[in-house]
Amino acid sequence: MTEADEKPPINMTSPDMPSEDKAKDELVNSYAVAKRLLPFLAKRGIPALPKNYRIFYDYLLYTNPALNKAVNGLLDSNAQFNSKLSSSLYDHFYSHEVLDTKALAISQAALDFIAVSNTMEQHIETAMTQASHYHQVLSTTSRQMGEHPSLDELQSFLDELLLETETSLAVGGHFSSQLQEANQTIAALKDEIKNQTTLAKIDELTKLYNRRHLNFEAPLLMAQAAKTGRPLAAIMFDIDKFKLINDNWGHNFGDKVLVICAEIIQKAARSTDVAVRLGGEEFLLLAGGLDAAGAARVAERIRQTLVNTEITVRGQALPVTISGGVAQYRPGENLTALLARADTALYQAKNGGRNQIRVAEEETPDQAAPATDQLITPQGE
Ligand code: GH3
Ligand code: MG
Ligand code: MG
Repeated sequence: MTEADEKPPINMTSPDMPSEDKAKDELVNSYAVAKRLLPFLAKRGIPALPKNYRIFYDYLLYTNPALNKAVNGLLDSNAQFNSKLSSSLYDHFYSHEVLDTKALAISQAALDFIAVSNTMEQHIETAMTQASHYHQVLSTTSRQMGEHPSLDELQSFLDELLLETETSLAVGGHFSSQLQEANQTIAALKDEIKNQTTLAKIDELTKLYNRRHLNFEAPLLMAQAAKTGRPLAAIMFDIDKFKLINDNWGHNFGDKVLVICAEIIQKAARSTDVAVRLGGEEFLLLAGGLDAAGAARVAERIRQTLVNTEITVRGQALPVTISGGVAQYRPGENLTALLARADTALYQAKNGGRNQIRVAEEETPDQAAPATDQLITPQGE
């Protein structure tokens, strides 16, 4: 049995929590995991390479069951987690991430925090040793004072006491300035980790959540839906003929279109929904409390809003459209299965002529909402 099996996963945040509490909880969890991490690596002789750090950080948090399964297999076979193995594991599990550097920065900040806390432990130990020594000198001196010492003896006791007092004051003073310094470093690291934690889950261009955050958040929403029986729906969007937009109007304009679409999706989302840029020109809205029909209505509203949004390029209005696929969560299925069903519905929307929303067939076949708007490209397609 491995440590990640033995110990329950660190407290996960609940989707019901206000976001401030959630951030606080995440911060506390990140420290708790970071504190367990180095001893965990050291006990197994695993080098504290940044990639190993990241892998085992997620391993201890149990954020990705597939990663835990792979790592457990390797631990059972006593594999050497050298840089080659950690790189190949890392590439396998994290290559989809857009913001690897930010995730690594979090690991670095956590490592810095551990270094500060180790240094402080040493300072505390030194200060405590000195305090206990001083205490001993004090009690010895006061015992000797009570034994009617000669003036010479008294002089030498007082000399020793003075010396010890000065040493204690010096150690105490040093300790107090070390404490102050550590306090400042920890406060700065706390801010850094908080910033990086936020940045690591946000897509830089569109400011929507990224895929990594979806992987973290979706299981929570799914578990909650399974527990409460409330529906949960996934709407997958893909901008139509986006390659043509890029080819005809340039990548920068393409980026602008991505931002506009993201804003429309974000505006339509409620605070409990998770709006994600899956990658490229694909988005996902994971909406709790919505069944397939409700989600199809939201998706249709988003599609129409985009159709009615005037997007101009070089003084010319450019119609941009989006297609969407809806799937209602089936308790027990995983994120991959849910996304696959939403993707199939999206594929049907593309096949049906684009600029429309389709619902995964097995749920409510009559919910498909083909659009009548025409798809127009710069070539007038
Ligand atoms: P379809 O209607 O079938 O979805 O066609 P499409 O052209 O939208 O689909 P395709 O997958 O062929 O093209 C997606 C394009 O998205 C190709 C890629 O260059 C572009 N892309 C991916 N990421 C970005 C990005 O960050 N910015 C920009 N401007 N373009 C991107
Ligand atoms: Mg696509
Ligand atoms: Mg597309």
